[in-house]
Amino acid sequence: MERMARKIEINHDKCIQCVGCASVCPVMAIELVGLRMKTYPEKCIGCGACVRVCPANCIRFVEKRE
Ligand code: SF4
Ligand code: SF4
Repeated sequence: MERMARKIEINHDKCIQCVGCASVCPVMAIELVGLRMKTYPEKCIGCGACVRVCPANCIRFVEKRE
């Protein structure tokens, strides 16, 4: 059965690739791939650590089906 879950979304235009989000994520749901942060929504547990640490304020939560 489908359910809605809180997932992160990165505004790549504002991201400065500091990798802070990836370093605090407890489940490795974000990593730097080339010059862009890649997210793995299926891994994200919605803890909010990346949102709090982002210096560019470019991560937000969205509701997605999983
Ligand atoms: S909300 Fe938590 S689990 Fe999800 S990507 Fe951010 S730090 Fe990782
Ligand atoms: S913490 Fe913010 S600015 Fe830094 S890499 Fe992650 S999304 Fe980009």
